[in-house]
Amino acid sequence: MAECPANSAAPLLSPVEGAALATRGNRDRVRVMLPLPLPQLLDYLAAEGAPSPGSFVRVGLGSRQIVGVVWDGDGDGAELPAARLKPVGEILSAPPLRPELRRFVERVAAYTLAPAGAVLRMAMSVEEALAAPRPQRICAITEVGLSVLAKPEAKLTPARRRALEALSAGAAASAEIARRAGCGAGVVRGLIELGYAEERRIVAESAAPEPPDWRRPGPALSPDQQRAAERLEERVREGGFSVTVLDGVTGSGKTEAYFAAIAAAFEAGRQVLVLLPEIALSAQWLERFRRRFGAAPVEWHSDTGQAARRDGWRAVASGGAQVVVGARSALFLPFPELGLIVVDEEHDPSYKQEDGVCYQARDMAVLRASIEKIPIVLVSATPSLETVVNIARGRYQRVHLPRRHAAAELPQIELVDMRRKQLEPSRFLSPPLVTALAGTLAADEQVLLFLNRRGYAPLTLCRACGHRLQCPNCTAWLVEHRFTARLQCHHCGYGAPVPAFCPDCLAGGTLVPCGPGVERLREEVAERFPRARVALMVSDLISGPRAAADLAEGMAAHRYDVLIGTQIVAKGHHFPMLTLVGVIDADLGLAGGDLRAGERTYQLLHQVAGRAGRAERPGRVLIQTYMPEQPVMCALAAGDRDGFLEAEAAARRIAGLPPFGRLAALIVSANDGEDADFAAQALARSAPQMPGLTVLGPAPAPLAVLRGRHRRRLLVKAERRVALQAAIRDWLGRVRLAGSVRLQVDIDPYSFV
Ligand code: ADP
Ligand code: ZN
Repeated sequence: MAECPANSAAPLLSPVEGAALATRGNRDRVRVMLPLPLPQLLDYLAAEGAPSPGSFVRVGLGSRQIVGVVWDGDGDGAELPAARLKPVGEILSAPPLRPELRRFVERVAAYTLAPAGAVLRMAMSVEEALAAPRPQRICAITEVGLSVLAKPEAKLTPARRRALEALSAGAAASAEIARRAGCGAGVVRGLIELGYAEERRIVAESAAPEPPDWRRPGPALSPDQQRAAERLEERVREGGFSVTVLDGVTGSGKTEAYFAAIAAAFEAGRQVLVLLPEIALSAQWLERFRRRFGAAPVEWHSDTGQAARRDGWRAVASGGAQVVVGARSALFLPFPELGLIVVDEEHDPSYKQEDGVCYQARDMAVLRASIEKIPIVLVSATPSLETVVNIARGRYQRVHLPRRHAAAELPQIELVDMRRKQLEPSRFLSPPLVTALAGTLAADEQVLLFLNRRGYAPLTLCRACGHRLQCPNCTAWLVEHRFTARLQCHHCGYGAPVPAFCPDCLAGGTLVPCGPGVERLREEVAERFPRARVALMVSDLISGPRAAADLAEGMAAHRYDVLIGTQIVAKGHHFPMLTLVGVIDADLGLAGGDLRAGERTYQLLHQVAGRAGRAERPGRVLIQTYMPEQPVMCALAAGDRDGFLEAEAAARRIAGLPPFGRLAALIVSANDGEDADFAAQALARSAPQMPGLTVLGPAPAPLAVLRGRHRRRLLVKAERRVALQAAIRDWLGRVRLAGSVRLQVDIDPYSFV
């Protein structure tokens, strides 16, 4: 960090950094970006010598003290005269934010139209990691103490001897020494008074994570895997920016193939970032990594505790952490030596963040790789259409694993046409599925039943008056959860006990559940197969990663016969005895106006189907659908992924939809419906008029009321050549919205509710 005066430091800096210091001839004016949604950088005065760009500094804003980052580049600073500027407070000891990460923050902000400070906040999410760690007092043995301990004839009480021995094994806080020696704190104090030990103040660096060992041999790879692994290793060794898609059927051993690339990055002394969707539930992945490399990766996700975050952040920033596995937010960590990014299940919709800064982590990972000039690997059995099109355009390279590992066959997929099946009321398993279940259980094999709906029933209505129980805050039905005996809104979290009377007509005992949720399915399985051991895997019934891992382990060890779950069962799991997959209500995801509904349904069901028959025994999949003619269902049954993608691509090209056209959603919300309408209409009136760009709406959002806020949507549709962000930035700059109105911009929206 440049502590010396700016004029002498300038020649040592890069031209960009030097230019930033010489802001308008006033060398002591520094521009600071705060991790807040502010429209611009703020100027401060550096008391003596400007801190170099990237330095973390504490500055005043109003009455608050905030840690920000000294910025370079060409943001618009507030043009205040120097006399009115506040001084920079403390310069923190954390390593400065590297120029690559600063450029990344700027580019993400420019792409998503979020204020740069809001993006920066994601890059400095653990503020306490930035401050110097607090010194701790520890107790250490002295030379005198050592010589006393070495003399057997020295007069020492047994407690003092034990304490000295504990000290000779290593310095620690005196309470810790007392604990190890099994003595009181007074004993340790006594040793200090005698000069046998002394107190020191040290800054305790948390231990660096254990380094993974790339030399450990992995499993012998199949020829296909070997070829894939070599291609990926080559990319890592060459360095430079490249995007490689590792496209392989479920169970083809993609993980082992990209582990080889990770090993190559470790060998080169570089750091690795692995992004996984819903990382908290991937205990099996962590276990595989540990087995392969002999050490655990740093984890980074919403379940990571505060202390672990602080240590993790520091370990990443210092280069001590070789590998991080995390959810999308790990993308903003300050790696100094990043050499490879892997995005596993790259098609997963959870990579899209929908609130705050709306960004697609897979796409932003590609951006970060390009700025860092490093390779990135996108991994999937069902790549997103965006990725497939990028392969076709020659931007991404493809590495293919066409077969399952170790001669396991891909499962056979059959559709069950539910229009021809008359089920009894409150029954949801079709006769063919019941027969298949019985056969599988009789053969002592396992079954997975997939229904992407939490709770007992998605709707509760009154038999007497037809009233449907709705969330008071949202345009949504309340979902009954029988385990907790509550009605819940899955959008805002509202919950209430199930009422005994209809709240509308006050009749008693007339409320009935409609439709299936996983809890209700479990009831049916228990009734039909009372001896089967059934487990339920749903996010709201699993207390954390440990519980999920236990459940998966129980399934792998065949302590359960039937696993019922929502989409959290679809991912990653490998259960050798699982030979039957049943999908209930396969059409669920196809409703609604989501342009990716078909693609997503294909990906999800393909992935669920991929859980069947992963080892020696062949798998069978039954999909219950009311739309067996739907292209998605036909493609699933025919195993024709590429045909489906081609048809999907053709349809989107004709409609000018992503990735062939560009979309942005503007969501206006207000506590009052009229305020929302007024603002939405004001926006529509000043919409940009330009060739190749259309603004649709405003229209009430499908979730017209969410968490008590009234929502209106505008959709911007543009041809690919249109500079969409610039057009929207200019547009929003021309409209003034009331303070009560919130506007959210979502570039390339994934959710249309
Ligand atoms: P994918 O990620 O493509 O679905 P995985 O990497 O999970 O496939 O591999 C599927 C199964 O095959 C896993 O249990 C894995 O341990 C095993 N496997 C993959 N490659 C090998 C190999 N080369 N040797 C032994 N087992 C392997
Ligand atoms: Zn609600």
